[in-house]
Amino acid sequence: MPKRHPAPISHRLAARLERELEGEVLFDRFSCGRYATDASHYQIEPIGVVVPKTDDDVRAAMAAAREEGIALLPRGGGTSQSGQTVGRALVMDFSKYLKRVVTLDTGARTCIVEPGIVLDDLNRQLRPSGLWFPVDVSTASRATIGGMAGNNSCGTRSIRYGIMRDNVLSIAAILADGSEARFGEVGRNFPNAVETLASGPAQLSASPGWEAMQGSAAVALLRDLIALGRREAAHIAQAFPQVSRRVGGYLIDALLPGPGPINLATLLCGSEGTLAVSRRIELKLSPLPKNKALGICHFASFRKAMEVPQHIVKLNPVAVEVVDRTLIELARDIAIFRPVMETYVRGQPDALLLVEFAEDEQAENLRRLDRLEELLEDLGHHDSVVKVADAAGQKAIWDVRASGLNIMMSMKSEGKPISFIEDCAVPLQHLADYTERLSAIFERHGTRGTWYAHASVGCLHVRPVLNLKLEKDARTMRAIAEAAFAMVKQYKGSHSGEHGDGLVRSEFHTSMYGPHTVQLFEEVKDRFDPKGLMNPGKIVRAPRMDDRRLFRFKPSYRVSELNMTLDWSAYPGAGGGFQGAVEMCNNNGECRKLSADVMCPSFRVTGNERDVTRGRANTLRLAISGQLGPDALAAPAMLETMKLCVSCKGCRRECPTGVDMAKMKIEVLAAANRHRRLPLRDRLIAYLPRYAAYAAPFAPLLNARQQIPGAAWLTQRLAGFAAARPLPRWQSRPFRPARRQEAPASERAASVKVDPSRDVVLFADTFNTYFEPENLEASVEIMHHLGYRVHYLGAERHAGSAAELPIPARRLCCGRTFLSAGLVEQARAEARRVLAAAQTFVERGIAIVGLEPSCLLTLRDEFVSLLPGSDTERLAGCALLLEEFLAREVKAGRIASPIGALQGKLLLHGHCHQKAFGVMSAVRQSLALVSGLAVEMVDSSCCGMAGAFGYAAETHDISLAMGELSLLPQVRNAAPQTLIAADGFSCRHQIRDGTGRSALHVARVLRKAIEARP
Ligand SMILES: Cc1cc2nc3c(=O)[nH]c(=O)nc-3n(C[C@H](O)[C@H](O)[C@H](O)COP(=O)(O)OP(=O)(O)OC[C@H]3O[C@@H](n4cnc5c(N)ncnc54)[C@H](O)[C@@H]3O)c2cc1C
Ligand code: SF4
Ligand code: SF4
Repeated sequence: MPKRHPAPISHRLAARLERELEGEVLFDRFSCGRYATDASHYQIEPIGVVVPKTDDDVRAAMAAAREEGIALLPRGGGTSQSGQTVGRALVMDFSKYLKRVVTLDTGARTCIVEPGIVLDDLNRQLRPSGLWFPVDVSTASRATIGGMAGNNSCGTRSIRYGIMRDNVLSIAAILADGSEARFGEVGRNFPNAVETLASGPAQLSASPGWEAMQGSAAVALLRDLIALGRREAAHIAQAFPQVSRRVGGYLIDALLPGPGPINLATLLCGSEGTLAVSRRIELKLSPLPKNKALGICHFASFRKAMEVPQHIVKLNPVAVEVVDRTLIELARDIAIFRPVMETYVRGQPDALLLVEFAEDEQAENLRRLDRLEELLEDLGHHDSVVKVADAAGQKAIWDVRASGLNIMMSMKSEGKPISFIEDCAVPLQHLADYTERLSAIFERHGTRGTWYAHASVGCLHVRPVLNLKLEKDARTMRAIAEAAFAMVKQYKGSHSGEHGDGLVRSEFHTSMYGPHTVQLFEEVKDRFDPKGLMNPGKIVRAPRMDDRRLFRFKPSYRVSELNMTLDWSAYPGAGGGFQGAVEMCNNNGECRKLSADVMCPSFRVTGNERDVTRGRANTLRLAISGQLGPDALAAPAMLETMKLCVSCKGCRRECPTGVDMAKMKIEVLAAANRHRRLPLRDRLIAYLPRYAAYAAPFAPLLNARQQIPGAAWLTQRLAGFAAARPLPRWQSRPFRPARRQEAPASERAASVKVDPSRDVVLFADTFNTYFEPENLEASVEIMHHLGYRVHYLGAERHAGSAAELPIPARRLCCGRTFLSAGLVEQARAEARRVLAAAQTFVERGIAIVGLEPSCLLTLRDEFVSLLPGSDTERLAGCALLLEEFLAREVKAGRIASPIGALQGKLLLHGHCHQKAFGVMSAVRQSLALVSGLAVEMVDSSCCGMAGAFGYAAETHDISLAMGELSLLPQVRNAAPQTLIAADGFSCRHQIRDGTGRSALHVARVLRKAIEARP
């Protein structure tokens, strides 16, 4: 009989979890890789991942890990900066399913939540009650309450509201041994404490598992903890620095007997998943501030700015935040921030302090602003305060501040700002000396740092720029950390003031707090988790912070030469820079936001780490560096990773470091195409521009799919087009360029006088040409009406004598359909044709105008990557959407408003690429040329159709789900007489298929308005 080898532990565990859990069990290499990093510079591959659906899943996973002797690591958004969310363990991701508000008691101003709920989402749900949870971390859009409690997170307004430890009332937790306990307030006298605990609030008592806390194991634990507090009271009372920002180590000071009751939940705050798993968290809520006023204080030197917070805090602000010169200048260079910087920042200050007051009465806030001004005058800073009383102005300024780190991280070089000493906190009187001396330390080590954040509490963020791929920079990191922490100790400050201990700071607890305090931490850890299975190596018994084997870029990290098809030369590294572009993702998790803007629609629908920009970027990094096996870039699991990316380019604009996943997806598809035959559906879509002219005459036949019974089913079976989705309707009479004012032949163009202020070239894309020619006709009529001469790109060489120009057999095409299938060479060929046809116009600065955002903007975006060079750059400079052209002409004074009139309301949905290129303001300006029209923007992400995505059988449902996130319900809610406008061909289809309503291209709205003019 053959000898049977026992299955490896991970296989056994995976099989058991598969059997016992309702939620997902992910043990494959790609999934584990996606959970191997957080927003720190570390990377440790987990043993496996579970995504629990229910409390019972959590219990079952914990039991399985315990019985197999495997470590456990709970995880929320994975945005930790100190490596506390990575480990060789079974990772348990709470963020997908366990995110309900369980109870809300508005009278008591409390709520109980599941740990996976995201802060912004919680606050959105609380808003109608006039309450909020005020620990306003910068990562509010993706940080979970479980993770915030785990890290003892701190918000910008902590000086008013405190940090997590001050706002968590109780936690129902599952302990390492599987028993359950509620950690909350206990009576002053210990004998009563157990009763107090056992009686707990009704809601918690009612929740399953709460009864278990009355078991003797949990009660004995709580008893021991309180005893430890009593025994060590004298030591603990002097063990920690007296600053509000101290999140290092376990919060054993919470165990000290004092005048008030002890809250044992505080001990779990900041425990980084090393003691217990939080199952329910009870929070203290605060009333939403009614009014706010902001003072922007300007300083000629950074030191001077650091000298004043100690005085400003006496005015009782809710926030005092610093922004230094580097950030000010970087923000000025970023298009979206430039206007706000120009409006509110005077001259060339070396630093700004943002001081916010938020009392109920606005008059009081304004009074405090006056006092701030007087105070700064007294301190010798004349005329230094810009007062901002309006909410929009305040928000714009806070957006710049909140993006501080992101602005810095957009550096493309190999060296990056590294987080390891970035949240030391010192008493305010030492802030100026501390920052000056730390800057000198950086200088000594040949680097520099940019300062920003919480001056109110002496906790400043600063990240020296280092290249952690280099041994020497890893050594520099350690040297800087040691020097900085020694200085912090000297000032009686805290080395861990916000982002937690993790792998970065834990090893320094001994030098900062002394060996006995660390022994007490170990005693707490061992009492909770005697086998050391809860997120080991964090807070106690940590490895060295500069152990490069734990880094994301380990000593063995290599990327071998890659064969890329697009230009990535803006970045360093292999593949002509592709490596550098991929490595830009620092895991900050902004792409996990659940609302606002566009990024990332696939994640918003599935909640899967695989389907978010970060997950994709991490997978790519692991693939190109050989960590996912040979040829991983073209592997089926990589295609799965990219499958739901709708190439909306939301990340291109919104990812703080500019990760452009739509462009990266093209490379993945191109790599895959080298090993596979392209599926029939993809070929049919990709080559559409090539056969459209031949297919159009058969329009009635092609359109019959919707009428002939079984035809839709057949196209699904044979080609993978979703039977439930109608295909676009062919027009047997496609758009033909009118002869009236045709272009001069390009060969003759040099001798013909064209005038950039009167001539315009129309780029007729494939979709509008063959499916909705009336849009192109409308645009021509608008331009004629406004006095422009319209030329047709690509048609002039075919000028004949008929009343209409004949359609060339192969019209020009932007190549987008080829790009979306990864057929890069075919797309490049199309780009060359467009470039050649456009050259004479481009040389004369004539605008090339298009209607379909995804096509026209390809000329501005992908063309530059397909054919890098000055000709393409010039073409990109001339390529405008119709609305951009109109807005430009209005600005130049060549079009006078109004051009037409329409009474009523219009609901406008922006195409993702319009948003990615900041075009929506031009669309609004164009619609403002219509008098009487009230325009409302749909607050939407991607419509979900995204080219071919919505037509594919396997993604049709996801496509509709994306539409249902916001666009489709808002269209359904619009009054029947409201006009719906959407420039995207796909968006209009999604709206029609999802709501039965017709949407118009803005060109047709404008034409309607011109026709309706009195
Ligand atoms: C750009 C940027 C800005 C930041 N700004 C701030 C800031 O302003 N203030 C601030 O305090 N932090 C900030 N952080 C750090 C981080 O975002 C916060 O600490 C955040 O609260 C972590 O939430 P998360 O859901 O991502 O937690 P994760 O990183 O997933 O987890 C954090 C810790 O909690 C533990 N944990 C998670 N869920 C549970 C559970 N159910 N039970 C027990 N333990 C659990 C984990 O094991 C881990 O140790 C910032 C980070 C970045 C990248
Ligand atoms: S893809 Fe961009 S937004 Fe997402 S985690 Fe990476 S850097 Fe942040
Ligand atoms: S292109 Fe869109 S769908 Fe794809 S990763 Fe970026 S934001 Fe997400």
